[in-house]
Amino acid sequence: MQHLILPVITLIVVASANSIALLILKPMMNASLNNIYNWVFIVAILACAAWVVMAVLGQSASLTEAFTFAAEKMSAAGKTKVCAACGATNETTAKFCKQCAKPLDDAAA
Ligand SMILES: [Zn+2]
Repeated sequence: MQHLILPVITLIVVASANSIALLILKPMMNASLNNIYNWVFIVAILACAAWVVMAVLGQSASLTEAFTFAAEKMSAAGKTKVCAACGATNETTAKFCKQCAKPLDDAAA
């Protein structure tokens, strides 16, 4: 969740700063400056929104990774064969190491 706090706060700050700064700056701006100002904030808000989306996607990707890792660990527990040559874990049914391709025989392990 920490990944989301910074982009969400930035988005809120930029969005509220837009309306506050507009109140202060509007009397000092002419039409073209106002136009530039609006575009700068549109780009800033879009960038922040993209940042939030990326944070959400990154978060879910790492969550998926964590779940996959945990599931792999659980299913692998008690049914692995460690390669004597390189130490990689292989399925008990494996005849050859998936890492170094050396033959896996129970006598060596
Ligand atoms: Zn190996």
